[in-house]
Amino acid sequence: MPPINLAIVGVGKIARDQHLPSIKGNPDFKLIAAASRNGTVDGIANFTTMKSMFEAMPEIDAVSLCMPPQFRYEAAYEAISAGKHVFLEKPPGATLSEVASLEQLAIENSVSLFASWHSRYAAAVEAAKSFLASATLQNAHIVWKEDVRHWHPNQDWIWQAGGLGVFDPGINALSILTHIMPTPVFIKSATLEFPENRQAPIAADLKMTSASGIPVHAEFDWRQTGKQTWDITVATTDGQMVLVDGGSKLTIDGKSVEVPEQSEYAALYHRFANLINERRSDVDIAPLRHVADAFMLGEHIFVEAFND
Ligand code: NAP
Repeated sequence: MPPINLAIVGVGKIARDQHLPSIKGNPDFKLIAAASRNGTVDGIANFTTMKSMFEAMPEIDAVSLCMPPQFRYEAAYEAISAGKHVFLEKPPGATLSEVASLEQLAIENSVSLFASWHSRYAAAVEAAKSFLASATLQNAHIVWKEDVRHWHPNQDWIWQAGGLGVFDPGINALSILTHIMPTPVFIKSATLEFPENRQAPIAADLKMTSASGIPVHAEFDWRQTGKQTWDITVATTDGQMVLVDGGSKLTIDGKSVEVPEQSEYAALYHRFANLINERRSDVDIAPLRHVADAFMLGEHIFVEAFND
């Protein structure tokens, strides 16, 4: 099968750090163009708008949309309407409704839409899911604490409405949780801490439960300096399971479980190629739904101003 002609849109941090190397290592794709207002990619055709790119290069089959979520819907709408397969960076949109609209549009245009959740492809996530599938769960605890100044310096969009604030990394934890839990969970109460000069939270505390009453507590905080923590602990009658470092390592009762080496973005592109070849979409909004629920149900409190 000839490679899928791919274009990347929104050449910024994640495009450079992950998309470009992963595409290079995947023979199913040939990166032939980029569209970005300021960024460019060496060795391929570069455009400042998607419209000019599609006009000049009708052979483009698929696009990866790597701009911030508040600007992704218009780009996705334009690409799907032009008959291109679409890879959406996480979160798939700024609202649930726009993602539903894109899902329908993809059906009407017979293209594949992939709402990617990179953390679900972390090396130890499948092993955690299999362990929990046959265990009796007692409770779960997510601790996702990192230093925003280190990971998101001067990213204004992330602090604006729709940028999600601490849920930008927190949604990665929720994407793992919704994948590994054998039963659905939902939020019962939440506290969101907003810096008084920002529109998005710097910390969030979520109390969730499953239908069968298993409590799940999630703590997200962007004010963490020193050791960074991205861990999910689940107590079960078969022992304590800990997913460490964003899902890359797993221990059960303190013993490490061997997992295959896997790059999250290499696995995402492998999945995208399969979806295109099978003419299917994958649009799971469960992680984004929890974030929306937290904003709807959560108590909003204002804390000290945050400046980069
Ligand atoms: P970024 O570097 O701040 O932005 C990516 C690019 O989007 C920018 O370079 C810019 O390119 C374009 N862009 C910015 N504002 C725009 C606007 N108003 N309209 C259209 N394009 C705009 O962000 P990022 O860190 O790569 O994150 C992008 C997405 O990837 C987010 O949804 C994020 O959650 C996700 N993600 C990020 C990471 C990470 O480590 N950073 C990890 C996983 C997923 P031009 O100015 O050239 O148009």
